[in-house]
Amino acid sequence: MSELPRIPRSASDDYAPDAVAQRRALAERTAGRALEHVGGSPVPPAAARGNVENLIGFAQVPLGIAGPLRVDTTAGAREVYVPMATNEGALVASYSRGMRLMGAGGGAKARVTREGLSQHPMLVYAGLEQALAAAAHARASEPEFAQLVAGSTRHGKLVALETDVLGCRLLLRLVFTTGDAIGINMAARAAELVSAELARRTGALERYVHGQDVEKRANSRSLVEGRGRSVVAEATIPRAALADLARVTPEQLVAIHATYAQGFAQLGTHNWLVQSANGLAAVLLACGQDIAYLVECAQGQLDFRVDAAGDLYASATLPSLLVGTVGGGSQKGTAAECLALLGCLGDGHANTFAELLGATVLAGDLSLMASFCSHEFVAAHERLGRNRPVHGT
Ligand code: NAP
Repeated sequence: MSELPRIPRSASDDYAPDAVAQRRALAERTAGRALEHVGGSPVPPAAARGNVENLIGFAQVPLGIAGPLRVDTTAGAREVYVPMATNEGALVASYSRGMRLMGAGGGAKARVTREGLSQHPMLVYAGLEQALAAAAHARASEPEFAQLVAGSTRHGKLVALETDVLGCRLLLRLVFTTGDAIGINMAARAAELVSAELARRTGALERYVHGQDVEKRANSRSLVEGRGRSVVAEATIPRAALADLARVTPEQLVAIHATYAQGFAQLGTHNWLVQSANGLAAVLLACGQDIAYLVECAQGQLDFRVDAAGDLYASATLPSLLVGTVGGGSQKGTAAECLALLGCLGDGHANTFAELLGATVLAGDLSLMASFCSHEFVAAHERLGRNRPVHGT
């Protein structure tokens, strides 16, 4: 794997057109293509068809690159610059530092551990007995329902059908693999087909699309069962690199992680990561994802421990990454260019994209925890991230 250079910076003015152009040229060489829309060329209005109504133009958000990020993915070793769209000063610098920390230990490893987008239609019956009979019929009919789904989509596959009964109500948990798309449209249509057919066969009185609506809200199903792609990313950071680059020890990081665990337990939060929402929002926005899935995507767990050699072992577990490299807004305008920069545009790349996201989240959490330990967090934001209004505007 060739080593990507460090991202160039200008000491005199890092926002001067020359400095920006130099970085964009590096990104273009890495992507192997021009990044014309990222560079300011307008996206044709027709590209927005199917993504928005009453179009008046495109919102612009500043886009930076973090990295290089080295990751051992299922598809092999990758080294990338990560595109991040954000208005939070210091965010990209923080993720870049975390990637450098991980690079000092040879990079991160990330794997998709589970895949499946769930839908949860509800059917209502006259009583418990009828609901239980319908549940048994549904489970026995799974292969037939899988055939039904196969007739409506080439990439969506019904891979699990589970039932639960609440009084006279039958809850279905239908799980689909969705190829390289988030797959919500194909899964919603498939769930509609299955629940309508089951209702017809079992005499359901009423049928609801989302009896237990887990979409786009922090929820225990997403945390425990996973939705979309579940990813684990891990890295070992040498003690010396932590001291040199972040002025912390592995023991300090383990100690601050324990304080977070206490606070999180008291909050009852679904998100036991530290700044996952920051990095994920920035990459999802850059890469044309449905940003509303952030509430499910950002949930997960962080783990720090000191290993036998006295170095830091760190892992991030993200059970519900709802992302795609096909469909939605992913293949249009700046999004397509940003996915190309990651080497993740189009067919066959959704798992790698999810694994790169997992490693990105780990980098951000390492960097933020380190800055809290060394008490550099406030200073970094004062230096990089303040935008006090100009008097009179
Ligand atoms: P989509 O663009 O609606 O569907 C993906 C399309 O790409 C399908 O037609 C699929 O064909 C095709 N395709 C070609 N190659 C593929 C590959 N390698 N893997 C997967 N599909 C491939 O995308 P989506 O992910 O299902 O839906 C995402 C969009 O839905 C987002 O824009 C999101 O905002 C929106 N959304 C919808 C709902 C809802 O409930 N309907 C809710 C929230 C968000 P086949 O189907 O024939 O395989």
